Amino acid sequence: MTRILPLNDGNTLPQIGFGLWQVPADQTARVVREGLATGYRLIDGAAVYGNETGLGEGLRQSGLPRDAVFVTTKIWNDHHGYDAARRALDASLARLGLDRIDGLLIHWPCPEHDRYVETWKAMVDLRAEGRVTSIGVSNFLLPHLKRLIAETGVTPALNQIELHPRLGQAALRAAHRRLGIVTQSWTPLGQGKSFATPAVAQAAARTGRTPAQVVLRWHLHLGCAIIPRSSRAAGLAENLALWDFDLTPAEIEAITALDTGERTGPDPMLFA
Ligand code: NAD
Repeated sequence: MTRILPLNDGNTLPQIGFGLWQVPADQTARVVREGLATGYRLIDGAAVYGNETGLGEGLRQSGLPRDAVFVTTKIWNDHHGYDAARRALDASLARLGLDRIDGLLIHWPCPEHDRYVETWKAMVDLRAEGRVTSIGVSNFLLPHLKRLIAETGVTPALNQIELHPRLGQAALRAAHRRLGIVTQSWTPLGQGKSFATPAVAQAAARTGRTPAQVVLRWHLHLGCAIIPRSSRAAGLAENLALWDFDLTPAEIEAITALDTGERTGPDPMLFA
């Protein structure tokens, strides 16, 4: 169903999960229930998505044991700083109805405010206290990662970054490999902009899979974790059915060559 990646803190991460950005709060419990029933074991949430309550409800309604599911949430930009980060986790756990989170990420580094090291120190302590199992970051560039490591000695377990065929992130992926950080791709489908390219369309025709499945399989071949979003049960199932076909090295290379460096989201240096 889904494979497991080792994290640098001794824990593991399901390689495939599903994301909840823009999932309406009143549909979130259903989407979570359907995702878990389909076989997903990682849910990517965030305080700013406004649907943590539904995430917790869906998790409880699934009937799965708590330890069977990796739940991620993220500290939003207005909660940087040691005390604010701790308060942000308290508030997220209260909304989720959980006493511990599996993955806590800094949502954006917000370098202009220069507080992400303080936030990280709070997360290191929260992990030591057992309220968070694994800690990581999102949208961090290499200088931000290096600074966290230099100032705290603690390397993030994962960095969740925008990554899709138009934004292959080769340099950051290589840096992650050197540092022992798992790359988790957000907007992995890249708004479908590569679906009609010969690289994707030909691989889809050869394998009999959809362009979305080909693009998601490409991420897995690169060793990345993925968190595609779909509110439909059929979409959730399609995005999880990725392990029973392979892309050839030439197909992987052709999709990797679609890189234009084009982001769909904000520049992490500027976003605050
Ligand atoms: P995505 O790449 O998952 O694409 C979602 C869109 O593609 C939706 O419109 C969906 O209906 C459509 N889709 C899904 N499955 C499809 C399929 N099989 N065929 C065709 N279309 C399909 O984009 P996303 O939601 O932006 O990103 C995924 C998750 O990443 C988010 O839900 C969120 O959890 C996370 N995320 C994180 C950040 C961050 O800053 N850390 C930013 C954006 C998203």
